[in-house]
Amino acid sequence: DATVVVDDVTKQYAVGTTVTALDGVSLSLPRGSYTAIMGPSGSGKSTLLNLVGGLDTPSAGRVTVDGHDVSTADEAERAAIRGTEIGFVFQTFNLMPRLTAVENVALPLVFDGWSRADRRQRARELLESVGLGDRLDHVPSELSGGQRQRVAIARALAPDPALILADEPTGNVDTETGATILDIFEDLHAAGNTILLVTHERHVAEHADRIVHVQDGHIRRIEELGEDTDG
Ligand code: ADP
Ligand code: ADP
Repeated sequence: DATVVVDDVTKQYAVGTTVTALDGVSLSLPRGSYTAIMGPSGSGKSTLLNLVGGLDTPSAGRVTVDGHDVSTADEAERAAIRGTEIGFVFQTFNLMPRLTAVENVALPLVFDGWSRADRRQRARELLESVGLGDRLDHVPSELSGGQRQRVAIARALAPDPALILADEPTGNVDTETGATILDIFEDLHAAGNTILLVTHERHVAEHADRIVHVQDGHIRRIEELGEDTDG
């Protein structure tokens, strides 16, 4: 039972010359799976994540998320799918600078018909779960990089998305915060969420069930990581 199916996807960018970022990539993510994408810079990792997240559309091939074809959906339809089914954790945080941590986390719920009190309550609980119960009313400039990243994760989780996409979620944070973020992903995995994350760090990728190795726009190898590591 795959929640994400990437079927023979090619993505080209035409900026002067044509760059083929992905070339005939197929991948499916079983519901509840935890997959890491690794590969050198420029190999197509972010492009793949963005296509799964409906931030962009493929040049050829098909991407479906829970049966929704995000490769042919228009921007409004893709935004609706992103808003309810997909939690996207960006490397660069993308927090609203004038809003507090609680307000940032509560924001996605505005579009989901929650009352103001319920939105704030859920935001508080999520921030507590990522260890920011004492930073609820801070704005992003008053938070460290790692704290901002955790606010961004709490915000991505607010609508309770089944699919979590993360691009280098530990890329800009210190080791301790990175470990906290990986713990959060493990809890989400244990709770049945489907996780796809991009990383260039082997030790981060090893938290996943499997590692998809990408190179020059192709999947080179899929490495299955057993729960049992001593066999
Ligand atoms: P990675 O995440 O593995 O570093 P990307 O998916 O970001 O790789 O990029 C793959 C290739 O596509 C690179 O050659 C990159 O320069 C190109 N590329 C990515 N995004 C764009 C874009 N918006 N416009 C033009 N080229 C792009
Ligand atoms: P880090 O070493 O993790 O980058 P910082 O040195 O930036 O952390 O911040 C240390 C602590 O001080 C953090 O808990 C952060 O919330 C708080 N802090 C940082 N800048 C401000 C500020 N301008 N106003 C209020 N609190 C701040």
